[in-house]
Amino acid sequence: MNSWYLHDGLVFRRGRLQQEDILILHGRIAAFGTEAARLSLESAVPIRGYDAGNCVVSHGFLDLHVHLREPGFESKETIESGTKAAAAGGFTTVYAMPNTEPPLDTVDRLLQLQERIEQSAFVRVKPIAAVTKGRASREINDLAEFIDHGVSVFSDDGDPVDDKLIKEVMEQLASLNGLLVNHLEDKSLLGPGLFSDGTPPESEYVMLERDLATVAETRCRYHAAHLSCARSVKLISEAKQKGLPVTAEVTPHHLTLTEDDTTFPEGNFQMKPPLRTETDRLALIEGLRTGIIDAVATDHAPHGREKDHGIYADSPFGVTGLETAFSVLYSKLVLTGHLELERLLAALTTGPGKVAGKSCDLEIGEAADIVVLDLACQRTVETDGFYSKGTNSPYIGQRLQGWPVLTLVDGVERYNMKGCGCSKEAR
Ligand SMILES: [Zn+2]
Repeated sequence: MNSWYLHDGLVFRRGRLQQEDILILHGRIAAFGTEAARLSLESAVPIRGYDAGNCVVSHGFLDLHVHLREPGFESKETIESGTKAAAAGGFTTVYAMPNTEPPLDTVDRLLQLQERIEQSAFVRVKPIAAVTKGRASREINDLAEFIDHGVSVFSDDGDPVDDKLIKEVMEQLASLNGLLVNHLEDKSLLGPGLFSDGTPPESEYVMLERDLATVAETRCRYHAAHLSCARSVKLISEAKQKGLPVTAEVTPHHLTLTEDDTTFPEGNFQMKPPLRTETDRLALIEGLRTGIIDAVATDHAPHGREKDHGIYADSPFGVTGLETAFSVLYSKLVLTGHLELERLLAALTTGPGKVAGKSCDLEIGEAADIVVLDLACQRTVETDGFYSKGTNSPYIGQRLQGWPVLTLVDGVERYNMKGCGCSKEAR
């Protein structure tokens, strides 16, 4: 069943919230407002009614930065568990990073991955291809072949592209109209320590300076991954003022936590880049509010229980984020007056959509990728409450407000909080 009449909701489209009904027929948006009401009565197809009263209805969220771990690390996450988590978080499209085992560095592996996605994904999954063989930054992959197979985003995330290769990579991608997402971490500037002292802000912005200078030379489309410090926001702002083809993302955790928030188990607060100062956090919020930062991306990075009892030199970095992204940002930024709801919704839909070359706005004729958000709903984040296999969240134990209650992809129900959770109807 992929025809719906979503009524009485506050609908977010064209950047504004307005009360109107939506009619979805055969998985596509058919009408808004009084026209939706009229057509729903006339239609011969069976239509499921949904009372969205007291809820916001938005285009489904797009996440430019997730780690689904398959193939190679299926004990941490799979395409199935990760995309169930995405659906529960209101995400209808996720871009999956290639730091799997093996990494996504050949088109053969892409075809295998696409088959797995076809079999088991609950939402749309767009693979990001590795820039270099084995993500080792010695030899550039056949980028043109990936482009020919529909992949347009490239990253060696987890590791940066080496100084020796960055210009050639950008020149190639500029000629192919591909997008480079670079992991901003100059490893020569790392020191001892597992948090910000070991991964200081300069390890991020020095590499961002290098990349932006190369963008100016090559005009390569460039997206800065997971900004964490005030200086990086300033650099992106200056690059945009110069008219460079640059965009940027920020994670929910960098927008809502600082290094002073770290509590036990510390592993749930250990990620790359690390949490930084309140000055940095406020600069990131201001960057997002003013549009210098285009998108919220979760950097969803599930791990096993390795860090439950403390962290050590080889602890895996990263925290989960798909399921809590909206409720965290709504509770901690919108309800506190730091950010308007409309701006948050844009940063989860049209903002990342623009980076990816999709509209991600609700429009007649478009696929019905939709999330319904209950802004009054309150829930406590619990270790056993995740669809993700990863429970390494820094928000465990917190009571958060504003949760997705219904997620549709192509009009098909992928998550319904009032029902049994994720459902898998006829695909
Ligand atoms: Zn990264």
